Amino acid sequence: MDHIRRAPKAVLHDHLDGGLRPATIVELADAVGYGDLPETDPAQLAIWFREAADSPALEGGAGLERYLETFAHTCAVMQTRDALFRVAAECAEDLAADGVVYAEVRYAPEQHLEAGLTLEEVVEAVNEGFREGERRALAAGHRIRVGALLTAMRHAARSLEIAELANRYRDLGVVGFDIAGAEAGFPPTRHLDAFEYLKRENNHFTIHAGEAFGLPSIWQALQWCGADRLGHGVRLIDDIQVAHDGSVKLGRLAAYVRDKRVPLEMCPTSNLQTGAAPSYAEHPIGLLRRLHFRVTVNTDNRLMGGTSMSQEFAHLVNAFGYTLDDMQWFTVNAMKSAFIPFDERLAMINDVIKPGYAELKSEWLFRQAAAETAVASESTRDQGVGQG
Ligand SMILES: [Zn+2]
Repeated sequence: MDHIRRAPKAVLHDHLDGGLRPATIVELADAVGYGDLPETDPAQLAIWFREAADSPALEGGAGLERYLETFAHTCAVMQTRDALFRVAAECAEDLAADGVVYAEVRYAPEQHLEAGLTLEEVVEAVNEGFREGERRALAAGHRIRVGALLTAMRHAARSLEIAELANRYRDLGVVGFDIAGAEAGFPPTRHLDAFEYLKRENNHFTIHAGEAFGLPSIWQALQWCGADRLGHGVRLIDDIQVAHDGSVKLGRLAAYVRDKRVPLEMCPTSNLQTGAAPSYAEHPIGLLRRLHFRVTVNTDNRLMGGTSMSQEFAHLVNAFGYTLDDMQWFTVNAMKSAFIPFDERLAMINDVIKPGYAELKSEWLFRQAAAETAVASESTRDQGVGQG
């Protein structure tokens, strides 16, 4: 686990309102007089979030309301400039402490307007929080770079406005756009004007698609909306046939996704919680990695999943026997698929990620010397203590 935490990682799919520290929620609720938290002890609250998010899978969909309730609580305490600043700063700090060197963190500005902030004020507070978090991380010995993705809600009608906002804050901390929320009944094509606007502006976007809903959602996200990446995309597995002899046949859509190197933002723990995958070992990421799709590993909601990037990788190492080479492959995939400029992605891969893995992978070379040193210093201690 220590190796996994120290390895450089990149996350492309992490929700700001899904990653708060439980103690921060309690303190912020207290500060703004929000009295609806189900628990006021941080440890109990952490358990409540985890269990509430587990319930859709456990209760066959009946717990979906409870799952959504978790975000009502986090959003409720993220309505002021100070709260957004704090949550964003802590997000960057927590990711950095977990060994994440590059993160794209998303949130929906329209969900933070209840106390009178404007969309612009929300974006600026979060951006300043990320910068503060990057500085604190550096002071603690961790380097991280965080970019924001602005999310529009699928059921709402503000996507064009949010897309324009993302474009306005481009190069000012916002690196792209996303669309999220319940898939069923809200196809991405409802928001075509937002996507067409972003394409005309040469901007980037990802779409939550193929999580609960099937192939049509993925197909629309790619072929109608022109998404650069797919959020989840686990249902792509429905377009791949594996025969008894192990041979594999890709359908047209799956073949297109692989041929065009469309990045898949996979979030194993989240998929288990929502029932999109039955177990880590049966998660489509195993097959998709084997078939060399452009797969990336992500957290989705660290609070609701009780997870982190290191935790996600630990689960995959357990389930599939992945090595540091596999981790590096996933991380390079993520960095290739990031929305920052090409030269910066390349520098991150060549100057940060690859050297980081090389350092970890070379440690075995010196293990013998380290073991001998440990033995030597132990015997010196045994013989020498008290003689000086
Ligand atoms: Zn998500």
